[in-house]
Amino acid sequence: MPSFPAPLRLRLDSAALISNWQWLSAQSGSARCGAAVKADGYGLGARAVIDRLADAGCRDFFVASWPEAEALGRLDTGLSLSVLHGVREEDMPLALTGIARPVLNTPTQVARWRDAAGGPCDVMIDTGINRLGLDWDADLASLLDGITVETLMSHLACADQDHPLNDVQRQRFAHVSAIQPARCYSLANSAGVCFGKPYHFDLTRPGLALYGGVPREEAAGHITPVVTPQIQVLQRRRVSTGESIGYNATFVATGDMELAVLNVGYADGYLRGFSNRGLVRAGGVEMPVIGRVSMDLLIVDCSAAPNLAEGDWVDIDYALPEAAAQSGLSQYELLTGLGRRYDRLWV
Ligand SMILES: *Cc1c(COP(=O)(O)O)cnc(C)c1O
Repeated sequence: MPSFPAPLRLRLDSAALISNWQWLSAQSGSARCGAAVKADGYGLGARAVIDRLADAGCRDFFVASWPEAEALGRLDTGLSLSVLHGVREEDMPLALTGIARPVLNTPTQVARWRDAAGGPCDVMIDTGINRLGLDWDADLASLLDGITVETLMSHLACADQDHPLNDVQRQRFAHVSAIQPARCYSLANSAGVCFGKPYHFDLTRPGLALYGGVPREEAAGHITPVVTPQIQVLQRRRVSTGESIGYNATFVATGDMELAVLNVGYADGYLRGFSNRGLVRAGGVEMPVIGRVSMDLLIVDCSAAPNLAEGDWVDIDYALPEAAAQSGLSQYELLTGLGRRYDRLWV
């Protein structure tokens, strides 16, 4: 990390993160509410997210792979970390240290863990997404013979939609949970939390909504944005009618206008879908994105902000449902694409 501020930063709102978890936890009723912190906490920084959510009372955390678990190190006593992609042969030396539990997905993973006399583990059941997990209608009793299951889980394929598969998956998981012993049962992601008690079982596993994503209409108004990209102005310039702006001259000025050139681009996850569509703000003034987003630069119309100057900071409009509609990216992509060049500033 350089010893001086970068020209772009993420303002990360601790109070919003905690309030989103508290809402999801309240919606989860008597079920515990965990947190998916894979992909480095959806781009915010997994360590910082875990510290804040643990203070708020969250106990159960989920990463995708063992390199992510190793980067976090052993969590404090009372916290649990699960590795969703299970355990490969390459992962075994680390997995056997007990810094996290594998979520076993395949008969091969189950056999590997059993043969190594690994400790407590989780198991994923595939109830219809046809992605990771043991088939729900397999002979689980013999597959899991001798395995002590901490959390038995499944994952919804369509929870952000009203789709018949949701209830099918819920019924299949209820069936499995009735016959397969485990300490705890878990089905719902962020969107699944919105479906109410029949989907909650003992533990919910939201990710997106913690970070300000709105997974379903029911969550709108309850979930607060957490991430605001803030970018420094590198140059201010005036252009006259008829001049073109940016790569490929996709915007031609129809009147005299003032532009600000900002230190952010598609290499920072602000992808080209925002070209001629995105919005930034400074001091309550809206400034539309003009022309193509470049790799490292962005041009906005700052005609309405006469005092905006080189070195000033502006906020990118990054409320996730709206930014997704503007850019054609999913709310998940908007978070996980945020690159390594931002300072991450928790307030
Ligand atoms: C990513 C993930 C979650 C969290 O999903 P969101 O839609 O972000 O809430 C929960 N469970 C599993 C297995 C996941 O892979």
